[in-house]
Amino acid sequence: MKKKYLMTPGPTPVPAEVLLTQAAPMIHHRTPDFSAVFMEAIEGLKYVFQTEKADALLFAASGTGAMESAIANCFCAGDTVIVCRNGKFGDRMKQISEVYGLNVIDLAYEWTQVVNPADIAAALKENPGARGVIVTQSETSSGVLNDVQAVGAIVREYPECVLIVDSITGIGAVECKTDEWGLDIVMTGSQKGLMLPPGLAALTVSEKAWRAYERSTLPKYYFDWMKYKKNIEKQTTPFTPAVSLILGLQVALKMIREEGLENTIARHSMLAEATRRGCEALGLKLFAPPEGRGSAVTPVWVPEGVDGKAIVKIMKDKYGVTIAGGQDDYAGRIFRVGHLGYFGEFDIITTLAALEMTLAGLGYQFERGAGIKAAEAVFMGE
Ligand SMILES: *Cc1c(COP(=O)(O)O)cnc(C)c1O
Repeated sequence: MKKKYLMTPGPTPVPAEVLLTQAAPMIHHRTPDFSAVFMEAIEGLKYVFQTEKADALLFAASGTGAMESAIANCFCAGDTVIVCRNGKFGDRMKQISEVYGLNVIDLAYEWTQVVNPADIAAALKENPGARGVIVTQSETSSGVLNDVQAVGAIVREYPECVLIVDSITGIGAVECKTDEWGLDIVMTGSQKGLMLPPGLAALTVSEKAWRAYERSTLPKYYFDWMKYKKNIEKQTTPFTPAVSLILGLQVALKMIREEGLENTIARHSMLAEATRRGCEALGLKLFAPPEGRGSAVTPVWVPEGVDGKAIVKIMKDKYGVTIAGGQDDYAGRIFRVGHLGYFGEFDIITTLAALEMTLAGLGYQFERGAGIKAAEAVFMGE
């Protein structure tokens, strides 16, 4: 037997309380029992999204379903949107926009760069008719945190332009004030900070986003937001919901409420800091720039002379610790340590210990124990 540890930024570990709830016998979804749980989950989602004004909608889908729904529900073919992309998920929003026939103003950056809000301001000045700005808050492929608060302040001045925020690994890990920052659509997915298995996607819809919906003519059926809103008013869902996942969601959201969202975010920032300091103490270089590092995942450059794919493979096969490799151009060049959702101090210590043993086995020179020591110092407040 080998004990296994899942240290990736999605799927993320699921607490036993949530797993046990999901293992309960099936209940029917058109019942008061289900409605009570469902409505509590919707209220809990509004809490983690930090919104009182927006609607929170929930779909049986992976996160990409929410992304696609945002495009289909807000726009007409030929609309101009400004897509900011500094990683794989920004690329995906561009692809979805193009599939739906939108005219994309492409704000492309390196994966190691942060989106510059001034570029969005300039693009909007040049294209005052743009109907949307799309930005990824926490880029899971690169660990970069984009300043969606600053973007919100810019887009707010354009009454016909909605701000779509992919916060799929932001929600529950970093600050994301939907109402206060003027974010029109904010998305998340169950297998990230919500501590659930994959299969649910959630998003918020502001009043401005509903105005975009009213005007939108792109085809939609399963993801037609109005169907979900009208059914929530009747405490139910338009189609058969992912019942077990929603039962689990209600429990997971209760755990976040009990911790208090501010504390949840502070815990993530401490875990991220410990991971960063631990890796740096091993002489490793962080991928994301200091001005934009998120708390969901820490991508790290593979040191010269070391086989990056071997790091991920040995950690998993020999030590039972699954981390993520790099994506696209960065496959084999970086590795990514997730600390999103159900994570505590000793998950980081475990991961760093496995990383040290793996690197030592691969012949990389460093001071053994330095990574763990640096992480411990963060946890001890030193
Ligand atoms: C995980 C993720 C998604 C959605 O991916 P799915 O595999 O469809 O759940 C989108 N954006 C970001 C930033 C993500 O981390």
